[in-house]
Amino acid sequence: MEKVIQAIRGMNDVLPNESFAWQWIEQILKEVVDQYGYQEIRFPILEYTSLFKRTIGEVTDIVEKEMYTFEDRNGDSLTLRPEGTACCVRAGIEHGLLYNQVRRLWYKGPMFRHERPQKGRYRQFYQFGAEVFGLKGPDIDAEMILMSVRLWKRLSIADHLTLHLNSLGTAETRALYRRELLSYFSAHQRELDEDSQKRLHRNPMRILDSKNPAMQALIKNAPKLMDMLDPDSQAHFDQLRGFLDATGVRYEIDPCLVRGLDYYTKTVFEWTTDRLGAQGTLCAGGRFDALVEQLGGPATEAIGFALGFERLLALMEAVQAFPMQAAMPHVYFIYMGEAAEKRAFVLAESLKDVLPALRLVLNMGGGSFKNQFKKADKSGARLAFILGEEELAQEKIAIKFLREEKMQENIPLQSLTQYMKEFLEDFR
Ligand code: ATP
Ligand code: MG
Repeated sequence: MEKVIQAIRGMNDVLPNESFAWQWIEQILKEVVDQYGYQEIRFPILEYTSLFKRTIGEVTDIVEKEMYTFEDRNGDSLTLRPEGTACCVRAGIEHGLLYNQVRRLWYKGPMFRHERPQKGRYRQFYQFGAEVFGLKGPDIDAEMILMSVRLWKRLSIADHLTLHLNSLGTAETRALYRRELLSYFSAHQRELDEDSQKRLHRNPMRILDSKNPAMQALIKNAPKLMDMLDPDSQAHFDQLRGFLDATGVRYEIDPCLVRGLDYYTKTVFEWTTDRLGAQGTLCAGGRFDALVEQLGGPATEAIGFALGFERLLALMEAVQAFPMQAAMPHVYFIYMGEAAEKRAFVLAESLKDVLPALRLVLNMGGGSFKNQFKKADKSGARLAFILGEEELAQEKIAIKFLREEKMQENIPLQSLTQYMKEFLEDFR
């Protein structure tokens, strides 16, 4: 026997009994971003490799080890997008969306990183992201954070998340900071792990993002960028805190928060939970004021965040935040005999014409009454329609309640539409 082909490691199927939860979350995300005036943007899954190298930074985990990069048949180097911001900026520049205007954009879809698969860390994962262009903040920084708070509330997970906040200053501040860090880590060179050794001269700030537990004490004692912020970044940060304090958003200042991508400036933030073990970062973002210009666009300040669906779902499951059930059919339609079969088709179609919200499954493949009732029960439907020769002769249909103690009803066929209309109204 041939070996059965399986999915690629770290790439998951969303099965039918899970997809309703995804749809529900997507709907809430859309409702919330709509409230704040954001518009959706969709960009391709593949981009030229140089886009990610130039934006994310050469000396980052993503570019050094995690990208799915390959040559296509033309010999072009392409990469499956590991994140959305670079694509969003590329599209914004390409289509002239960023000239002297404010844009509030959101996107969702799969991202790809060749990481070691484990709980909460996959090779294909889904992100939802929001980006705002053309506003220098800190008002929009605060509103974006408030928008994320609203998401957590709508998803019933607000109590399980902590906001971490830091400022990365401007490029100039970071150049000064880099020197400080270099001398600090050089003085402790023997304590650095292999990755950090490599990063010491190329990009010492990356060392702060190390996940290696053995490195954490050293990182904790490193000089803090927060202590040498330029006046503009300091004022930005203080004003942001003012907005958050005024609106009652709690946060922790985390001077070691640097994020895994090089393009961030000033505000950076992460939402973390202690309910998901090592993969506790649910959502992360920050300002990237230099990125648009760096990619050849007009100088445009920007801020954004992205959240991972799989971790969001895992958290919602862990804290039992799902109020909803999978969408089961309302009706399973049972019939017997050739004439009833034809009539059932006609009735099912005309009900669907008039009641677009009705979920009606028509029995297929024949079968005895008993067999059809078994299928009706398995389908999860609330009602069974029964149309046999007897009912047909009287121009009636029997309605049986499959999930509650209630007498079967016999309804004239001509009032079936009205009956179902009322059923749907009560159902909600
Ligand atoms: P981590 O520190 O966990 O590696 P990251 O800093 O690489 O995360 P970002 O690039 O900021 O993550 O992506 C934003 C969000 O996307 C994360 O907070 C997480 O929810 C999700 N995410 C990132 N990488 C993965 C992955 N490999 N599998 C599942 N979700 C992911
Ligand atoms: Mg990562």
